[in-house]
Amino acid sequence: MVAGGLEGLAAEVAACTLCHELATTRTQTVFGVGNPRAELCFLGEAPGADEDRQGEPFVGRAGMLLTDIIQKGMKLRRQDVYILNILKCRPPGNRNPAGDEVAHCRPFFERQLEIIQPKFICCLGSVAAQNLLETNVSVGRLRGKLHDWQGHQVLVTYHPAYLLRNPAAKKDTWEDIQLLMEAMGLKS
Ligand code: SF4
Repeated sequence: MVAGGLEGLAAEVAACTLCHELATTRTQTVFGVGNPRAELCFLGEAPGADEDRQGEPFVGRAGMLLTDIIQKGMKLRRQDVYILNILKCRPPGNRNPAGDEVAHCRPFFERQLEIIQPKFICCLGSVAAQNLLETNVSVGRLRGKLHDWQGHQVLVTYHPAYLLRNPAAKKDTWEDIQLLMEAMGLKS
């Protein structure tokens, strides 16, 4: 039932042309991947070039770092969690999503989260965090504590692509992930 709900929604997304520029430049839509009953969802910004090509979120270098966080850091398998983005189509040149594009795509990610019902959502970077929580507060000030979004517990941390450019921030993300693990009961 849950997977069926997601499949129907994925088909709607695949046919969506609400953002003209994105719909005419994408290779394909990138819906999301993972366990449809996951307790934890990772929410990113938008597909990049690798994701647009492969149809899966977080598969490039940043994706490898996210996989390390999940597998080496949290001792979970990538297929145990669910990974999705705010936008389902790649913005050309990896520019930031425009406000109207996020508004168009919001019902899709909200329905996706409604179907999965994760207890925890980890926002990766400012686009995910600020749009989910509908705030202008920076990641630096949102991180380090749990927030509530419609009954889901939300942790905000840096985007893996930012961590690749600023390795010194990895320490902060590791602290955030440990907080998440504690809340999830994954820490002994
Ligand atoms: S980004 Fe979302 S709303 Fe815009 S065209 Fe793609 S699927 Fe549709």
